[in-house]
Amino acid sequence: MSTDDMVILLERLSRLVRAQEHASDLNPAQWEALRYLSRCNRFSNAPAFLTRYLSATKGTISQTLIALERKGLLSKAPRPGQARSVVLALTAEGEAKLRDDPWQQVSSMIEASGPKTRKKLASGSQKLVNKIIKSRGLPSFGSCDTCRYFREGGAPDNVKGKHWCLLFEQPITKTEAAKICASHDTA
Ligand code: SF4
Repeated sequence: MSTDDMVILLERLSRLVRAQEHASDLNPAQWEALRYLSRCNRFSNAPAFLTRYLSATKGTISQTLIALERKGLLSKAPRPGQARSVVLALTAEGEAKLRDDPWQQVSSMIEASGPKTRKKLASGSQKLVNKIIKSRGLPSFGSCDTCRYFREGGAPDNVKGKHWCLLFEQPITKTEAAKICASHDTA
């Protein structure tokens, strides 16, 4: 298969899922916001970071958040110590909604494809995304394990998390370390 044929397949896959998103009661931007908020860490759950992650406009994100809040899938709260910032969080309904995510079908198919295929897909897609991000100078939004600020086991006695972030000077739990971060900087 030629490289061009592979690109056409990627485009087709994206269109097939996008069609399912349009056929649901959420539009693609609303699905993307739900996914981001389910995967980002506590330093990245603000509208400005969501805007950057999706390479969207402020207006689009503002409308998206209003719609999700109206549907009871999202809550907003003031960010402690930062008067002009809000914390975005999925409600229990928002978390449950992700079980209907059209990308879940793709995920299940990849899961069923076996470890070799999964490994190749993971490595290939990660390299491709990294190259595109780098060529456009976009933020990486990676997780702690590949970040230069991460110190694994750097806070062994801290009850709030055994790992440490040098940038925020905060403890990080194992679960948080796997989440995506707006301040990630490749190690
Ligand atoms: S270690 Fe890096 S990725 Fe993890 S919270 Fe700190 S800045 Fe974000």
